[in-house]
Amino acid sequence: MQNPILQEFLTLSHELGREDRGLAMLGEGNTSARLGDKTFLVKASGTCLGTLREEDAVECRFAGLLPMLEQESLTDQQVDDALLAARADTKAKKPSVEVVFHAWLLSLPGVKFVGHTHATSVNQILCSPRARDFAEHRMFPDEVVCCGPASVFVPFTDPGVKLAQAIRRETEAYIQQRQRPPRVILMQNHGLITLGGTWQSVLSAMLMAEKAARIFVGAAALGGPVFFSSENIARIEGRPDEAYRQRALKM
Ligand SMILES: [Zn+2]
Repeated sequence: MQNPILQEFLTLSHELGREDRGLAMLGEGNTSARLGDKTFLVKASGTCLGTLREEDAVECRFAGLLPMLEQESLTDQQVDDALLAARADTKAKKPSVEVVFHAWLLSLPGVKFVGHTHATSVNQILCSPRARDFAEHRMFPDEVVCCGPASVFVPFTDPGVKLAQAIRRETEAYIQQRQRPPRVILMQNHGLITLGGTWQSVLSAMLMAEKAARIFVGAAALGGPVFFSSENIARIEGRPDEAYRQRALKM
C-alpha cells in the first residue's frame, strides 16, 4: 500500500496538470506535501505535473533548505549543491528549484499541501498593470470562500532563493495583518501558489483563482470590475452556511 500522503500528492499534481485546465504545460508548475515535522515531498525538477509518478516525488528535509532563506548571496552552484544535499535519499531525482518556498510555506500553521502553476488567465493579469488590483480585491462570494479575503502579491523576483525570500517577506506581512496564512499568493510576471490543509483546498483555490481571473478580465473589458467592499467580504466569511460548505468540500 502506498503512503496515503504520497497518493494525495500525486492526485493533486495530476489535477493541476490536466491539459484542459490550462494551469501548467510541459515542466511548468510544482507541488509539495508535508510528511511530518522533518520531511516533505516535492515534485522533481523537469517532470510533468499531469503525468507525475511515484519516482518523481522527492522527499526533502526542511532542515536542509530553510537556512538558505537567511543567506544573502548564494551562487547557482551552492544552491544546486544544497538542493541535492536536502534529499532524504541520495538516489532520488533533483528537487524543483522552487523547493525552498515550498519548504517555508509547509512550515506555516495548518498548511500541509502547496501547489504552484502558471495559470493562463491569472497570468494575463499578472503580466498586466492591474496585477496588484487583482490580488487586493474580491468580486464574488465563491472567490472569498475558496481564495480568502485577499491574496498576497509578490513583485517580480528572479526564481529560486531570492523569490523564496520575497514570498516569505510578503506572506509574513499578510499574516501580521490578518492573523492567518493566505490561500493564494500571486507572483508578478510569473504565476500563483495556493496552499492549505488538504489537497482539495489547494485545488479549489487554484481553480477558483483561475475562474476569478477570467471574470476580472471580462469585467475590465466592460468598464469594471465592481469590487466587494470590506463589509461584503467580512459578511461572507462570517456566514455559517459558507463555513458548512467549506467543511463539506474539505477546504
Ligand atoms: Zn513557476
